[in-house]
Amino acid sequence: MVDKLVSKIALELQSYKVEPKVQGLALDKNEMPWSVDNIVEEALIKRIRNMEFNRYPDNDSTELKTALSSYTGIDPKSISIGNGSDELIHMTLQAFVDPGDAIVIQSPTFSMYKIYGTMCGARVLEYNLDNAFGFELSDYIDYLQRERPKLVILCNPNNPTGRGLGLQAIEQLLEKVESIILVDEAYFEFSGLTAAGFLSKYDNLIILRTFSKAFGIASSRVGYMLASPAAISFVERTRPPFNVNTFAQITAVEVLKNIDLVKERIELIKGERKRLTKLLTEIEELQCFESSSNFILMKSKRAGAIYKGLYEEGIYIKSFSSSKLKDCLRVTIGSKLENDRFYKAVKEVLYESI
Ligand code: PMP
Repeated sequence: MVDKLVSKIALELQSYKVEPKVQGLALDKNEMPWSVDNIVEEALIKRIRNMEFNRYPDNDSTELKTALSSYTGIDPKSISIGNGSDELIHMTLQAFVDPGDAIVIQSPTFSMYKIYGTMCGARVLEYNLDNAFGFELSDYIDYLQRERPKLVILCNPNNPTGRGLGLQAIEQLLEKVESIILVDEAYFEFSGLTAAGFLSKYDNLIILRTFSKAFGIASSRVGYMLASPAAISFVERTRPPFNVNTFAQITAVEVLKNIDLVKERIELIKGERKRLTKLLTEIEELQCFESSSNFILMKSKRAGAIYKGLYEEGIYIKSFSSSKLKDCLRVTIGSKLENDRFYKAVKEVLYESI
């Protein structure tokens, strides 16, 4: 019965695949390797004791927006909070895209853009990156001026390639393209580059960030948007009521109160990124792409064997089904010990199985 009733849009979709959670070393989801610090944990325990579990959350996330405003220097009226930045991607598309409108994403990039675009009935146009996952800015801008999409999504730095676009390039894009420009800065803390400085000048710029990566609270599902008050007011129309649960709001606030601890950890990851990139680059069978994020993309004719060998060791990294990412694997930067374990396992597959 249901197969006769399903919507055309749902028929086009496939559910987002996540490997079942198993014991082992998870280097596949770009998470931080550490849970919250003891100081944050203690603060959370105290707050849980006072939490009114019977009450709905604060629909405006007032405390969190105030904390985010101090952290970002952006007015609370220019902030919206989502149940993960995933929800904010969906909300943005619902706010600005009508069925049949074109949106442009890059390819390869984060898979949810296409899924949410399809869910909104958008024509999802994919601008192909070159073999090194870069692109010519003038060609990209020409393409956007020709296609005149309603909305452009730029993942900066890009997932899964790790490559980032400089601020001058983003400014040119904002100057020359009359679309909503959605810059997904899920990994910005690892690159240090943000388009936030352009917000006061361009009301069509929307920036998305998340607490799931550098802030290390993926379990809480908190994302936030920075945009002009006008853009925020449209996006807010598509926000489900009470979308961010009380515990998630509290966790994000307590993490922000201890921002120095977060910053220390980001520095550790950046140091490990440099070390691991150097080690992987020295392996002849691997091509390792420079990353400004908390993961590294690698390419190897023996990608299948590496993935399988690591999996059997209980080390989980990300493989891809799309042809554009043929022979590619993505590994999240972990702690020093985790990275050493990963590196040793890769070498074992490559040199001890021949
Ligand atoms: N954007 C990008 C580029 C991502 O890689 C991810 C998570 N993998 C997200 C958004 C979603 O993050 P979250 O919903 O956990 O905030």
